[in-house]
Amino acid sequence: MQWRDRRILVVQPHMDDAALSVGGLLRRTAGANDMTLVTVFGRSRWSLDRAERCAEAITLRRREEDARYARMIGARPIIQDAPDSSLRGYDAVTERQGRSESLEALRAIRALLGGHVSALRPDICLTPTGIGGHVDHLMTRDAIVRCAGPATRIMFYEDLPYAALAPWTPPASATSPRERLWVAAAGGDLSNSS
Ligand SMILES: [Zn+2]
Repeated sequence: MQWRDRRILVVQPHMDDAALSVGGLLRRTAGANDMTLVTVFGRSRWSLDRAERCAEAITLRRREEDARYARMIGARPIIQDAPDSSLRGYDAVTERQGRSESLEALRAIRALLGGHVSALRPDICLTPTGIGGHVDHLMTRDAIVRCAGPATRIMFYEDLPYAALAPWTPPASATSPRERLWVAAAGGDLSNSS
């Protein structure tokens, strides 16, 4: 797989997903390609510090961290303003139950990411697999699968830390769209999907 001199779009649902899930690869190839890091759900009230619940303060801090991280890997940061699951009524349990959002919400995310794909025309797009069933990760993955054209190779990364917690057995045969995604995550290719 050629990573140098490519236009690479890294899509992360939240401000830390790329660093946690595919940070080694991005650090290793820093400066060798034209990379853009898009954060989809750029507003949040999630914090390890449970005493801090101010969404504005948390969002600001996480955006600063993400901008610093983008500089480390030589990427152009684009942070969208969509509210993450913590601001849409989910909690730590319900956000990871593989739920699907409304069609309207899905279309909004697809339009948002479709605009970036059209503008950037990436050779490679890294997107989460959705392992662990986090609603924001599933929305991001589904949007990219639908809006990336045949010229873009989609590559799926494991969603850490969720992937480390979720048992997974690959299907014996892949017939449904969901199963095909799992197979793609295991090394298949969805570059011809629309
Ligand atoms: Zn995430």
